[in-house]
Amino acid sequence: MLRERRRDSGRCHMPAMNEPAMERRQIDSELRLAVSRGEFELYYQPKVDCGSRRITGTEALLRWNHPLRGVLPPAEFLPVLEEVGLIGEVGGWVLREACRQLKAWLDAGLGPLSVAVNLSARQLDDGPALLATVRGALQAAALPPQLLELELTETALMAHAGQAVAILAELRQLGVTISVDDFGTGDSGLTYLKRSPLDRVKVDRSFIQDIAADRNEASITRAIITMAHQLKVKVVAEGVETETQMSLLVANQCDEIQGFVFSRPLPAAEMERMLGEQGKPPPPAAVEQARQRTLLLVDDEENILASLKRLLRRDGYHILTATGGAEALELLVQNDVDVILSDQRMPNMTGVEFLRRVKTLYPATVRMVLSGYTELQSITDAINEGAIYKFLTKPWDDELLRANIEEAFRYKEMGDENLRLGRELELANRELAAANGQLTALLHDKQRQLALGGASLEVMREILQEIPLPMIGVDEDGLIVFANQSAESLLSGDCPLLGADACTRLPEALLRLLSPADEGDGEAVIGGCAYRVLGRDMHGRASGRLLLVLRKGENGCG
Ligand code: C2E
Ligand code: MG
Ligand code: MG
Repeated sequence: MLRERRRDSGRCHMPAMNEPAMERRQIDSELRLAVSRGEFELYYQPKVDCGSRRITGTEALLRWNHPLRGVLPPAEFLPVLEEVGLIGEVGGWVLREACRQLKAWLDAGLGPLSVAVNLSARQLDDGPALLATVRGALQAAALPPQLLELELTETALMAHAGQAVAILAELRQLGVTISVDDFGTGDSGLTYLKRSPLDRVKVDRSFIQDIAADRNEASITRAIITMAHQLKVKVVAEGVETETQMSLLVANQCDEIQGFVFSRPLPAAEMERMLGEQGKPPPPAAVEQARQRTLLLVDDEENILASLKRLLRRDGYHILTATGGAEALELLVQNDVDVILSDQRMPNMTGVEFLRRVKTLYPATVRMVLSGYTELQSITDAINEGAIYKFLTKPWDDELLRANIEEAFRYKEMGDENLRLGRELELANRELAAANGQLTALLHDKQRQLALGGASLEVMREILQEIPLPMIGVDEDGLIVFANQSAESLLSGDCPLLGADACTRLPEALLRLLSPADEGDGEAVIGGCAYRVLGRDMHGRASGRLLLVLRKGENGCG
């Protein structure tokens, strides 16, 4: 449903199935021409790690540079490509081009980086062909397979529910990673996810758009994140357009984001510039030091807020204040808050209700209640379900309160540090896997070259053996190191020439030509026939002389 909405961009659409046959034929031939004229181009949209905010990968998105209509997005022509059966050919080009481009970026030192390529449902129809195309693209670019990510929409996966699992497993055996695209728009459900060999889910942008506003939608995204993490699957949020959405996703442990908030899809040259500007990652400590401890105080009584602020200011916190839950939630959208201290008894929303809400939206915050009013049941429930870290009472003891808040910040920082270390470990693992993959590809390349070299040497030896022209190689010590069949039958007598001392086996006329000073040709009479002999230096691994014996009157000589 969402895909239909997306394709309905208001532009003038290419005619599809139901359009007059004439026009479809025209589009068909236009698209065929587009393939041969190279009118397709790949744009790239960066995918950003939520922790480091660095680009970890790019998604290749197809564009058609139509000679009259300009740059067309896939919604304008992809359905026709699929209908007329060109998707295999164009899809193959996309795979090869994306792999080639990524390899060029990696070689230019712009990594670590991966590339994601979208597959159409039609490409799943022929599993063996798809496998061969993917393998071919990786080999042609000499790209480590784990740097290629294949995206399949949830709907495409469901349409091939049976065989998809087998094809995906084979693709994964090649080493590539698999993502479910537009997750949430189909009805695959969690069971299917559990059964499928997947590495990532990309939550569809229809859920992301409402994450800040709608409580239900936000919790769908959160449920997907939690469930995917339990299945050891990473979560990418698609179509992230605002900083607010981004900070909510970060707060909810989303792994990566993609969207206009960071960048629109860009032509390769612009993407390359962006990667270049990103440079090397800053040391993690520098990022941490830049943050100031942020405390949010919530109380409906202004004078309490003022005295708390006065007391706690000396500890160097960045202090925010709100007189109610709603106002505090707004502050949380815009600020990176570490610790919250809230009153319990407030109009519209109690402290416990407010902190419960905060726990679901910003689970990493440390939340405390400061209240003179103790309604035991709701407080104990809130503490038991983890919505509240500590319950403090009014009137408070200044020093005790300061110590409790200091301890809350330390607790928060320990959690942050664990998260950071986990992410660093994961990044290091990813880089290690990429380096390992590059090394494997290099070794593979070298082995292929060696095998090719060996094979061509074998062929050369056979050709030289078969050639009806006596050839003799003599090394610097006067040993015969090569003699083809013709030479053996002309000169060998009882014992083979190969390995013999040239002086004892070659006629005088040939021996004369062994001296390097004598570059010229000579003549010889062997077995009553006249020959012309050419002597040449050998400069390969065995240096020495090569003698070619030509029958006079043959091969144009004489
Ligand atoms: P997708 O794979 O889900 O790609 C993301 C789409 O969302 C892209 O549209 C991108 O431009 C758009 N997008 C990204 N961030 C935002 C955002 O913040 N807000 C909004 N409103 N949109 C955002 P695009 O490039 O038009 O591609 C549409 C779809 O076409 C893709 O959806 C993918 O399913 C398909 N597609 C693109 N390239 C290929 C291809 O080479 N082969 C196949 N089979 N399908 C492709
Ligand atoms: Mg995609
Ligand atoms: Mg998508």
